Order: sequence, then structure tokens, then C-alpha cells
Amino acid sequence: MQQVGVVGAGTMGAGIAQVCATAGLQVVLVDVGSEQLQRGQAAIAESLGRLEPKGKLPRPAAEITGRIRTSTAMADLANVDFVVEAAFEDSVVKTALFATLDAACKPDAILASNTSSISITRLAAATKRPDKVVGMHFMNPVPVMGYVELIRGLQTSDATLTRTRELAKMLGKTAVESTDTPGFIANRILMPMINEAVFALSEGVGTADAIDTMMKGLNFPMGPLALADLIGLDVCLAVLEVMHRDFGDPKYRPAPLLRQYVRARWLGRKSGRGFFGYPK
Ligand code: NAD
Repeated sequence: MQQVGVVGAGTMGAGIAQVCATAGLQVVLVDVGSEQLQRGQAAIAESLGRLEPKGKLPRPAAEITGRIRTSTAMADLANVDFVVEAAFEDSVVKTALFATLDAACKPDAILASNTSSISITRLAAATKRPDKVVGMHFMNPVPVMGYVELIRGLQTSDATLTRTRELAKMLGKTAVESTDTPGFIANRILMPMINEAVFALSEGVGTADAIDTMMKGLNFPMGPLALADLIGLDVCLAVLEVMHRDFGDPKYRPAPLLRQYVRARWLGRKSGRGFFGYPK
């Protein structure tokens, strides 16, 4: 594997492009506009700038950024061996994207989604290569976290899963496999906890500080509300909505306060305000 495409240059896509380039791969990073691409490049430069002085990079930061080519055209993915899609957590957006990627990429390229909750089986069905579609769910922040969840859709072949495992290994990530069920393993368990923390906040059980401090007292490295702010409240809401709808179980009902914050565009760290404040 030599060339990887990453679609979406947001929180996750920038991190995925960074770890692929750090591992020595050539990367084509695609987003809808130059503003989004510049934001992604700035995030990569900032992260590399933190890692380089600590001696945590196997090659100079300038060489890593030099391996990342940006583009707004899907046609630039024509020669990549593997694509990781990290666009919005919206099944309509992702289904359309997979059809587009299928047309743009060479026939043997693997199309992976970094989705947190959307059915891989459904995304695979939007392509003419359903055996080559897989879930590759990275953890945030990608350059720091050591694990990746691999999701096998109904149609995913053994060969695709093997190549995806190889890529995870190359990136220095430990792979954990999950079946294709809403939220997979990580968010199936994490999101109900975050949601419950938001319900507790809205019911006045404790302040945001008290809720997070108490959970850190249970040895979680971060409180659930700070973690929601890191993930992005829009992403948390989207994941809960998928789980609520696809399981048809009211236990996944998103907390109304979470919905209200997303309406206010209080999205967490990326917008400067969520359950906590993040002055620039
Ligand atoms: P984000 O909002 O930070 O970034 C999404 C990016 O995708 C934006 O830059 C947007 O312009 C771009 N985009 C949207 N539609 C596109 C299209 N059609 N073509 C190209 N680019 C497009 O979101 P994020 O937090 O990076 O999440 C991306 C994906 O990763 C989602 O599926 C999410 O569920 C998943 N994920 C997020 C986290 C997290 O902690 N935020 C963790 C694991 C997985």
C-alpha cells in the first residue's frame, strides 16, 4: 500500500491524514472547499509541532506535511489504494459519497468509512464493490490514541479485512473487530454514558464540573462532558440518533439539552463552546 485518500479534513480526517503520512504513505486529502482544507492543514501542522520536539515523529514534520496533497476534486483519488472517508456523520451524505468514491477510485481500491455508527452494510450497498467496503473507526485524537475499531459489513471480504488490519498495523494502531451494529462497540457503550451525563446536567443532579470530576474519580481519564466537547456535540447527537432509530429502543433517546446545544452551534472545542468554554 502506497497511496491513501482521506475524505473530509475535519477533526478526524486531518488526524487520519497525519498518521498515514507519518507512517510514510502518500496522502490525498479531499474536502469540499479550500477553507476546510486549510483548517485541516493547520490542525496537522499544530499537532506535528507538538509531537516533533518530544521526539515522537519517525521523520521530520516537513517531510510528513510534504506527503499530504490536498484537493477539492474526487477525481484526484483515482490512483489511491485505500480511502478512509471521514465526512459528516450523516447517512445520506455518506451513501452519496460512497457512490461517488466507487466511480472515482480504481477497481481494487478499498473504501473504508470512519463512521461512528452508520451501517457499513448500507454504505457497501451504494457501491459496485461491496466486498471492498469496510469500517475503520479511529479514536480522537487520532495521532495520540492507540486503537482502531474494524467493522465488517455483511458483504466485506476476508481479503479486505486483512488489508485493513495491515494498514492499522502500519499506522501503529491496535485493531479491535466489531460486528456491523449501530454504534459498534465503542459508541454503543460510550454514547449512552455521555447522554446520561447530559440528562444528569439538565436535571440539576450536578454541575458540569461536578459530573466530570466525579467520573474522573472513577478513574476515567476525562469526564463525559469534556469528552463530548472533544468529540463534537453534533457528532454525539448524530450517533445517538442513528442508535435510537436503528435499534428502535428509547434507551438511546438523545437528551433534549444536547439537541439544544447543537441548535445553538455550541459544538464543543471546535466551536469554542460546549459544556465548557474553549477560548481561542
Ligand atoms: P468534522 O465536522 O470535524 O469534519 C467533517 C469534514 O467533512 C468537514 O471538513 C466537511 O467539510 C467534510 N465533508 C462533509 N461532506 C463532505 C463531502 N461530501 N466531501 C468531502 N468532504 C466532506 O467531523 P469529524 O468529527 O471529523 O467526524 C468525521 C467522521 O468521523 C464522522 O463520521 C464521525 O462520526 C467520525 N468520528 C468522529 C470522532 C470524533 O471524536 N469527532 C471519532 C471517531 C469517528
